[in-house]
Amino acid sequence: MIDKFDVVIIGSGAGGAPIARQLVEKGKSVLVLEKGPLLRPSYQVPGERSDFRRDEVYASGTEKILRVPGVANVGESYYSSHAEPDINDEPHVYRGVKKLPDGSEVPADYATIEGYTAQLVGGGTQLYGGVSLRFTPTDLRLKSFNAGRRTPLQDDPNGDALAGVRDWPVTYDELEPYYALAEELVGINGQTKNQVKPFRTGPGGTPGPGPSDYCYQRPLDPNPISAFAHAGMVALGQRLPGNIEPYRPPLAVITEDHAPSGRRLPRAKNGQPDREAAKTSYVNRYGDPLGLKSNTWVSLLSPLEGNPNFTLRPNCVVTHLTSTEGRVSRVHYFDPGGVRRTVEGKLVVVACSAVESVRLLMLSGQEDPAFATRINSSGLLGRYFLTHCFGGARALVPGRYDKSKALDADWATDCCGTDEFLEANGLWAGAAIYNNTSDQALPLSLFRTHGSTDLDTLWKGFMYKPQMRANGFINFLDYEFGRGLSVSFMANQVPQRDNRVELHPTVKDKWGRPVAYVLKTWHPHDVYLMKLMADQCAEILRLGVASSHPTYDIASDYDLNRKYDRNNEYGGSLGSGGVYQAENALARMANHILGGARFGTDPTDSVLDPNCRAWEFDNLYVTDGSFMPTSGGANPTLTIQANALRVAAHLLKRL
Ligand SMILES: Cc1cc2nc3c(=O)[nH]c(=O)nc-3n(C[C@H](O)[C@H](O)[C@H](O)COP(=O)(O)OP(=O)(O)OC[C@H]3O[C@@H](n4cnc5c(N)ncnc54)[C@H](O)[C@@H]3O)c2cc1C
Repeated sequence: MIDKFDVVIIGSGAGGAPIARQLVEKGKSVLVLEKGPLLRPSYQVPGERSDFRRDEVYASGTEKILRVPGVANVGESYYSSHAEPDINDEPHVYRGVKKLPDGSEVPADYATIEGYTAQLVGGGTQLYGGVSLRFTPTDLRLKSFNAGRRTPLQDDPNGDALAGVRDWPVTYDELEPYYALAEELVGINGQTKNQVKPFRTGPGGTPGPGPSDYCYQRPLDPNPISAFAHAGMVALGQRLPGNIEPYRPPLAVITEDHAPSGRRLPRAKNGQPDREAAKTSYVNRYGDPLGLKSNTWVSLLSPLEGNPNFTLRPNCVVTHLTSTEGRVSRVHYFDPGGVRRTVEGKLVVVACSAVESVRLLMLSGQEDPAFATRINSSGLLGRYFLTHCFGGARALVPGRYDKSKALDADWATDCCGTDEFLEANGLWAGAAIYNNTSDQALPLSLFRTHGSTDLDTLWKGFMYKPQMRANGFINFLDYEFGRGLSVSFMANQVPQRDNRVELHPTVKDKWGRPVAYVLKTWHPHDVYLMKLMADQCAEILRLGVASSHPTYDIASDYDLNRKYDRNNEYGGSLGSGGVYQAENALARMANHILGGARFGTDPTDSVLDPNCRAWEFDNLYVTDGSFMPTSGGANPTLTIQANALRVAAHLLKRL
């Protein structure tokens, strides 16, 4: 077995795969080590059945019980997907609070699946919703923006909201060609018109003709239910500075044949590409059996199959790195048979997703004190861990719609991301807003997201609600199915030094290694921002419904995220407020795990240099979401991919 490569990449998701793609194409030998399995879509499997399974059907065995010692939720039942680690094997632990019988609260640790995006070739992009927005130029210079702000920040009682904020060491203009390249290589449909981000670079790096749709494939027709979201976004935009109009959000699902990855749409009976095939409604949270969703396996890695420079080793968990005088000398892993192996790379790229990359670097430090000193010379490894401020509003709209034909989102607006909006509202950073068309498309998913207790505790929303049984449940389905429309925001979270990832002092994984320990709170300004943005989302729904149904009563105290206690009295239908208020609020990560190894220009103030190289290592790079010093006012994956392509260009110069 070959054990020497130009580059060893650990993790095959958004931060790892783009680098493999670029370097292999240029004749460099690359090994990708991936902890999870390779699941192929139907077009790659003889007999045309994909390797994916529907978890709800698959997970039909006996109930799983949490057995992690010492955590407050030990003994509880839990759910785990075949695309994620089993919590008993390898949990993440987060610090939350436990309610005592007298009503008081004490800190307590909980085992969770939160903070894992997915564990298979393609990483989180296998399950993601594919919302592929760019960050705004201001998102990358929030320190400078706030230094020049004219209005005071709201809800910053200790005056510390901006203390941890840093500008990115790359500007939007420097990143822009890589955004364009990522959009082209990954395969995205959408619309650039009305986005506030500049689009300058055209296909193949040519100068772009200005704001047109050249970076994207043509979007599909929106689902009719989204008309309410569109009308509301138009109306809200008219009220806010700049009169910003909505656009079809970029979604990483191909709607045309895609030459860079060799993917083709299924053919209709007349031999023409069947664009409707992409409208699966299984985009978010599901692996796509057709391979039309542009996960990094189908879009970036599988085109490399057969290239002698490309080696992929799935089911291989990297345990640690060892180094000699500032060079990573060996990468240690367990092969699929559990045998210990090592490999060498001239360059080593860690892209395990933010929590697991920080953990891997810390575990490497436990094995080797010299490694520990070098990787954490700034004392910041694991610190400034970030997720997103996220949340939104939901309404039951007039009519009933077939949501089984939809992608994740039909409309988006940047009207709450402009500098003018931030100044007018005393905000430090902005948000992207989009509607969720595909959520609750099936009765199953109506259940699955109910009460905001999804992921490892997804059934709790119903389990503890006696009124949701028997006829109560049937009435609930009948009343809600095909009527729910939600609008979400995705916003920057204030970076705080004490929000961090550590190694847990006692809890170990199935290999006997300390698991990741996530300590995270919201800043008061985050809470202010989330309330304000949730109100904008609620306003979009209110305005959108009123534009065509002026007498429909949408405004009431119905609130999906905080309570579901209607006892079948269907009083009203507008929900607002963010999931940050849910029971497990301290850990909620929206699957967006970022920061913990931020890049910067000052070695005492960052973990990575501007090229994402660990400051005190010559050949160690970290390119998953952990490099971000601020989390951006939009979903992060396109930016992780664009940055990985930028780093790839740098690595090519070194090899
Ligand atoms: C349900 C869901 C919906 C989402 N929707 C969106 C969306 O619409 N838009 C968006 O921008 N983002 C979305 N995301 C987030 C997106 O998936 C992540 O931002 C992105 O995948 C992060 O990229 P990454 O490179 O940091 O990590 P990942 O893509 O998760 O890749 C990390 C990989 O490293 C592997 N790995 C970890 N540890 C080891 C080890 N020790 N050895 C070997 N391999 C290892 C993992 O198995 C994984 O495959 C969503 C995520 C989920 C789960």
